[in-house]
Order: sequence, then structure tokens, then C-alpha cells
Amino acid sequence: MERPITGFGLDSEGDPIAILSCGHSQHVRHNPPFINRQWVTTEEGRNSMMGQMLNCVRCDKFELPAEFIPYKRTPVFTEETLPAALRKDHSTKRGVWAKIRVEEGKLRYRVASLGADMELSEDRIGIVVPEVLHNVEAIGPIRFFVEFYRAPDQDGQ
Ligand SMILES: [Zn+2]
Repeated sequence: MERPITGFGLDSEGDPIAILSCGHSQHVRHNPPFINRQWVTTEEGRNSMMGQMLNCVRCDKFELPAEFIPYKRTPVFTEETLPAALRKDHSTKRGVWAKIRVEEGKLRYRVASLGADMELSEDRIGIVVPEVLHNVEAIGPIRFFVEFYRAPDQDGQ
């Protein structure tokens, strides 16, 4: 899916990367004449590319960025306390990933825009992709909670 560039950095080899709103990064090498990205070599050029959209296939694959850390979780919900808001399409905000962790029972997890319709269980965690609409539905008795993840360098709560 398309994600805006929110920053730039270097990978462990010193190659330039663009950081996307989802927390994933992509190489933006300038390697003429094969890859021409003169803009990446100057701060002015990089600034001009902030907000540009890049296609992030790692979001399409439900890949929670490895360095992200859990910072908040919901109470445990059951089939009776499952909030109506979670049964309707809803999403997390920019840069916020989540894991849906089932302790008992089965939970249906649907993400229409990514063509996903799966059954979560104790052995199958659901990954919530930032800003992507999704909903859940209890299949019989259930106990589950949601754990939220964000980039490690953020302040606040
Ligand atoms: Zn991504």
C-alpha cells in the first residue's frame, strides 16, 4: 500500500533509506546511471521528497516492524464485553501497530483492503496495520486483548 515518506536515514551499510509513516524503510540509493536519485544526495532534495508516497509491500504482508515496542494494551475482552467499535470497521492512527492476542476461543479478523479474513486463536496472533480499516467478530466464547506497538524513539505515552 502507499505510504508517505516521513524521514530519511542510513542503513547499516551507509546506504540512504526513506522512512515511511508505517515505520518501514526503503532504500533510496543514488547509483547512476542505473538508479538516478540525485535528490537523495542533498538535504534540500530529501526535504522536497517528504510526504511523497512509496509502495510498502511489507505493510501488505502484515509485517510489524521488528524494532517496534509494545506501549499499551486493552483489558481482556470477552464475547460479552467486546466493544461495538471493534466489531465495526476501525483503524489505529499513523505509525501505530497492534497485535490481537487471543487467550481463549476464536476471533474472526477481517481486513477488507488487504483481502484478509482469518480466524485468530491462541496460536494465531492478528497483526493490525496502521491506518488500515479492520473489524473483529467473536465466534462463540472468547477472551482476547489488543497490544499496541510504536517506534522506540517516541516520547509521551
Ligand atoms: Zn509499511
